[in-house]
Amino acid sequence: MLRRPLIERYRDRLPVTEKTPVVSLLEGSTPLVPLKGPPEARERGVQLFAKYEGLNPTASFKDRGMTLAVSKAVEEGAQAVAAASTGNTSASAAAYAARAGIKAIVVLPAGYVALGKLAQTLVHGARIIQIEGNFDAALGIVRALTERYPVALVNSINPYRLEGQKTIAFEVVEDLGGPPDFHALPVGNAGNITAHWKGYRELLAEGRVTQAPRMLGFQAEGAAPIVKGHPVEKPETVATAIRIGNPASWKRALAARDESGGAIEAVSDDEILAAWRYLASEEGLFVEPASAASLAGVWRWLKSGRIPEGSRVVLTLTGHGLKDPGTAEREVKLPEPVPAEVEAVAAAAGLL
Ligand SMILES: *Cc1c(COP(=O)(O)O)cnc(C)c1O
Repeated sequence: MLRRPLIERYRDRLPVTEKTPVVSLLEGSTPLVPLKGPPEARERGVQLFAKYEGLNPTASFKDRGMTLAVSKAVEEGAQAVAAASTGNTSASAAAYAARAGIKAIVVLPAGYVALGKLAQTLVHGARIIQIEGNFDAALGIVRALTERYPVALVNSINPYRLEGQKTIAFEVVEDLGGPPDFHALPVGNAGNITAHWKGYRELLAEGRVTQAPRMLGFQAEGAAPIVKGHPVEKPETVATAIRIGNPASWKRALAARDESGGAIEAVSDDEILAAWRYLASEEGLFVEPASAASLAGVWRWLKSGRIPEGSRVVLTLTGHGLKDPGTAEREVKLPEPVPAEVEAVAAAAGLL
C-alpha cells in the first residue's frame, strides 16, 4: 500500500486547513509487530504487540509531531525552527526543516554535545549553537528567539507536536481492530504519554472505541521525578532519551495515568538493558535503551501477576537501536580473532 503523509491520513482529526502546507517525510504507519513474548506472557496467554516507532523517517516517534509542528511553522511564516535538545527532537527538527527549505537552530550548553546523537542533526544541516550556560539557559534563549525573530519553537511544549503524536493511538486501534487492554511506553518529558492518552480519549469521544487501555508509563529509576513526586536534580540513566529531571508535561501525565486507571512506575537500568537485549536477541527488534523501558515495566507487571490472563498489551518502542551505538559497544563484547581455518571458525561459532 502506498504510504501517505500522516497529516493526510488524519486530516479531519488534526488542526490543519487547506492552507496548511504539508511538510512530510511519510512518517507514521509504523508496523504493530506481534511478539513471541517472554515465558511469563506466553504462560498466561498474554499477547504483546510492539508499535515499532524506530521505523519512522528519522528513526523515532518524534517525526509524528514534527511533521505537524514544521507544517504549522511554515504556514505561520516562520523562517526557522528552533529547539534546545541533544536528542531525537533535534534530529527530527533538522530533517523536517531541510524538507521545508527553512533553517533549523539547535541551542545547547557547551560541552553537552555528544556527536553520536547529533550526527543526524549535523548532516541534515542544522545550525548547532553551543552556549556558555546550562540547559535552562538554552531553552530560555530559544524562547526569546521565537519572540523576536520569525522562528518557531519545536521543543515538546509546542502543542502541535502532541497533536501529531496522538495518531499512534489511532493506528493501534485500526491495526488491532479495537483498543488493547494495556498500552505501555517510556516517560521522559511526558509529552508522549499525554499524546497517547489524548488520542484514546478522542477515539472514545467519537464513539470509535467503547473502552480505552490502561496507560502504563515507565521512568528510569535514576530519572523518576513523577514516581518520586519531586524534580530530580541530576537525572542519570543509560536510557538517555528519558534522562529528564523535571518533565514539561508532568501534570498531564498524571491525568493520563489516573483517567485510564493506569500507573507510572520506575524501572532500573539493569531491567531496561535486559529488556533491550531480549527485544534484539529474541524478537529481532533493535531499539534504543529508552524504548526498552516499556517492556522492562510490563515484564515486572507480568512477573507480579498484574496483567490478567488473555490481555492484549501494546508497547510503544520509541526509537531505533542504531540511534545509540555507544550502549551496544559497551554491552556487547567483540570476541578475539581466531585463525583463518574452517575448524577454528566452526568452533568459535559453536557449531562443533
Ligand atoms: C523523546 C523520547 C522519549 C520520551 O518521550 P517524552 O514525550 O519526552 O516522554 C522516549 N524515547 C525516545 C526514543 C525518545 O526520543
